[in-house]
Amino acid sequence: MEVFLDNVNKGLKKQTHSESIVKCFPTYVQDLPNGTETGKFLALDLGGTNFRVLLIELSHEHFEMKSKIFAIPQHIMLGSGEQLFDHIAECLAIFVKEEKVADQRLPLGFTFSFPLSQKGLTIGYLERWTKGFNCSNVVGNDVVQMLNEAIDRRGDVEIEICAILNDTTGTLMSCAWKNRSTRIGLIVGTGSNTCYVEKQENAETWNDVNMGSGNVLINSEWGAFGDDGALDFVRTEYDEDIDRNSVNPTKQKHEKMISGMYMGELVRLALERFTKEGLLFGGKGSDMLFERGRFYTKYVSEIESDAPGVFNNLREICEELGLKHATEQDYINIRYICECISRRSAHLVSAGLATLLNKMGEKKVTIGIDGSVYRFHPHFHNLMMEKIKELADPSIEFDLMLSEDGSGRGAALVAAVAARLQKEKKP
Ligand code: BGC
Ligand code: MG
Repeated sequence: MEVFLDNVNKGLKKQTHSESIVKCFPTYVQDLPNGTETGKFLALDLGGTNFRVLLIELSHEHFEMKSKIFAIPQHIMLGSGEQLFDHIAECLAIFVKEEKVADQRLPLGFTFSFPLSQKGLTIGYLERWTKGFNCSNVVGNDVVQMLNEAIDRRGDVEIEICAILNDTTGTLMSCAWKNRSTRIGLIVGTGSNTCYVEKQENAETWNDVNMGSGNVLINSEWGAFGDDGALDFVRTEYDEDIDRNSVNPTKQKHEKMISGMYMGELVRLALERFTKEGLLFGGKGSDMLFERGRFYTKYVSEIESDAPGVFNNLREICEELGLKHATEQDYINIRYICECISRRSAHLVSAGLATLLNKMGEKKVTIGIDGSVYRFHPHFHNLMMEKIKELADPSIEFDLMLSEDGSGRGAALVAAVAARLQKEKKP
C-alpha cells in the first residue's frame, strides 16, 4: 500500500509523471450525471471480452438499450491499427444501418479500455496496448482521430464522437447515475484498473478550465504497477511464466496477478508443476492440462461455486480436461490452488482500493465495479469486503456496487453529459 501510494503520487505530479509507472491520467470527465440527461446515443465498447456497438435511449431514470456483439479476430488484434479501425467502423456502419439511425448523426461515446494520455474529452493518445491487443502504428496516436479517419474512408455513416473514455470511468458514471456517493470505478475483468475522484489541485498534469466541481476524475492505470520491480517481492515463478509468454512481456505486472485474462492460466501452471512433481493425479496429467490457455478462468469460479466438500463442477471440469483419474484428494488440492490464486487477486485489489480510500479521505464512498471476475466469482465480493475493512481507515464507510454494464451505459452517459453541457453553453 505504501509503495502503491507513492506510485500514485508520482503519476499525479508534473515533475515525476513522465517517468512514473502508475500513470494517473486525468480523464477530462468532470461532471457526473445528474439524472436529467435524455436522448439517443451510440456507444462503442472495445477492450473487454467482447467488442460491442450499442444504441441507448436515455429518458428520466430509465435506460433502453440495443446492442450487438462483433468478433475481433486475432489477426486484427495483432494486425495494423488501420485494419483495426476499419473493422470497428465497418461494425458501426452495419449496426446503425440495421437500427435505421445511419442518417441521424447521433452523439457517440467510445469506451476504449486501454491507457490513454488525454488532451481533451475527444483526444486520447494511446500509451500502450494491454491484454491481448498489439496493433501496429497506434501507440502515440490519437485514437479518436484514427476512428474518424476510418469512418471518413467509408463515407457511408454520420457519427459525432463526443467522448472517449476508459471502462473504469464508464463504470463509475453508470453507478453515479443511481448512487451519488460513487467516487471510485473498478474493473476486475479481462484486465484490471481503477479510476477515482481527485481534487483538482492534486492533479498537476490537468491543464484545462474546471467547470466548477473542483474535482478531476483520474484513470490510475494501476495494471502497470510493479513494472519497475516493485512487486517482485510477492511475484512467483508462475507470474514470471505468464509474463514471459504474454504479448506484452515486462508490462502490466499487477494486472497479470489479478485479472481474468491470466487467472486460469496461473492455476494451470501450478497444476502442471505439481503434476510433474507427482503431487497431483498420481503424476499422470493430460494433453489438455499441459496446453497453454486451456484452463479457463471461468473454471476457477465454477470450482469455488461448489459447496465445501462437494466437487460436482470440479469433477466435470476434470473430465473435460481428460483427467478422469483424479481422486478426491486431487479435488481438494485443485480447489485449494484456485482459492489461493483468486484470494490473492482479491487482496491485491483490496489493498489498492484501501490506499485510494485513505488518500481521498471522504467519509462515505461507493465503489462501482464491473468485470467478469468480480461478477462471476462466488467469493470475490466477500473477500474484498473483509480485506478492505482490515486495510482502510475504520472511520471510512464504503460499499461495493455492481455496475449495470458500465462500459456500454457509461459511454452513453458521458456522451450525454457532454451533450448537455454543450447545450447549456449555447442558450
Ligand atoms: C487497461 C485499462 C482498463 C483495464 C480493464 C487494462 O488492461 O490498461 O485501461 O481499464 O484493462 O479493462
Ligand atoms: Mg466491459
